[in-house]
Amino acid sequence: MTEHVNAPLGTPIVAPIHHSAAYAFASLADARAVFAQRASGYTYARTGNPNVTALESAVTKLERAECAVATSSGQAAVTLALLALTGPVNGHVVASSHLYGGTVDLLTDTLAETGLTVTFADPRRPEEWEAAVTSQTRVFFLESIANPLADLPELETIADIAHRNGAVVIVDNTVATPHLFTPGEHGADLVVHSATKYLSGHGGPLGGLLVDTGNFDPTEDPQRWPWLTTSHPRWGDRSPVEVYGAKRALLGVARCKYLNDLGPCMSAITAHEILQGISTLGVRVERQSATAASLAATLNRHPAVARVHHPHFGGARQEELYEQGGYRGAGGVFSIDLNGVPEQVEHVVDSLRLIKLAANIGDVRTLVAHPASMTHCRLTPEQFRASGITGQTLRFTVGLEDVADLTADLFQALSVIADATESPAAWEHLPHTARATAHQQKDSFHDHH
Ligand SMILES: *Cc1c(COP(=O)(O)O)cnc(C)c1O
Repeated sequence: MTEHVNAPLGTPIVAPIHHSAAYAFASLADARAVFAQRASGYTYARTGNPNVTALESAVTKLERAECAVATSSGQAAVTLALLALTGPVNGHVVASSHLYGGTVDLLTDTLAETGLTVTFADPRRPEEWEAAVTSQTRVFFLESIANPLADLPELETIADIAHRNGAVVIVDNTVATPHLFTPGEHGADLVVHSATKYLSGHGGPLGGLLVDTGNFDPTEDPQRWPWLTTSHPRWGDRSPVEVYGAKRALLGVARCKYLNDLGPCMSAITAHEILQGISTLGVRVERQSATAASLAATLNRHPAVARVHHPHFGGARQEELYEQGGYRGAGGVFSIDLNGVPEQVEHVVDSLRLIKLAANIGDVRTLVAHPASMTHCRLTPEQFRASGITGQTLRFTVGLEDVADLTADLFQALSVIADATESPAAWEHLPHTARATAHQQKDSFHDHH
């Protein structure tokens, strides 16, 4: 009888989940070296874990960047970035007026209470960014495809202005994803993600990523960034630049000071799930971009729709920015402004069946949101005007459903706006199946009322 002493053949294709809070060392000397940051290694999962490291490496590679830090949410990634760049000096931020609502709250309320100041500028008007710069400006913040109106910024021109004035450019690349656009190749120094959205892709875990493209080097202007370039007891009487290197000093501080002290870390299970999501990122966003462009084109001709907000329906300059930026798709998010009075907007939203009303993007399911009531409900009247959002604006985030089914759902809901779907012009270009389903759904909708 032979004894089965060897490990069974075959290794898992999917990496195991390392669900361990702490990491053991062979000797006290090893432990001491890692805790003092003289040797690399894991100590405790708040600052690192093998699954989290794998995710950070994958996103670094996708963004063609230098390094990354994973966080508990997109909000945490933005917070760490802003603290590491402005925390010690009451820094000033110039931020796009077309931003995710949570970022606006963070800039104007929570971080404002700690001394940060912010000026908003139109992402399509570089002169407003130039005019907003002060001696305290450390950061320019913008989105590569803005949420919710899906407009593209004058990124390269705005990044030049930032760099001439010694500011770091942070780009929120959540809506575009690195599959469609890599901001580091167009002037961004840092990239942030809500991994909750397209990277995860299935509407499950929350997560965030802070990515350093390697473009920012604090030693080029050491007096401007003393907390990165001069020694401090926190870093064993060395500087972060000495400990981590010039191109990794900022993220070293983000991880080993802010992530460690404040604690918004990512769990191993979340990192594992987001990595699984990333393995299908390309096929998802290509399909979602194609469906969104098709729905935008259809709705652009619909009589119930006053305006479509999508990079391909934003005029010649948006088209130019799309080409120059090398965008490989316009993403799955677009918005419309409805014709009709507020009650009709309410009716349209409540009539959607397949498309669910929820404040998320990047899911495999198509979702609608009313930004004025939901994600952007705390904007001041002035911010609201600058954002371009109105009470008639609906944001869609396109999933993986059949485009004909989505079109049918939209048409039956839009029929609430008087006679809209009776117009032959709105129907002509629809595929026959969608037309039939739209009629059926519209009829059954009326039957129920
Ligand atoms: C959702 C979102 C965020 C915030 O991310 P969370 O994971 O929800 O904390 C930031 N920016 C954009 C563009 C987003 O869509």
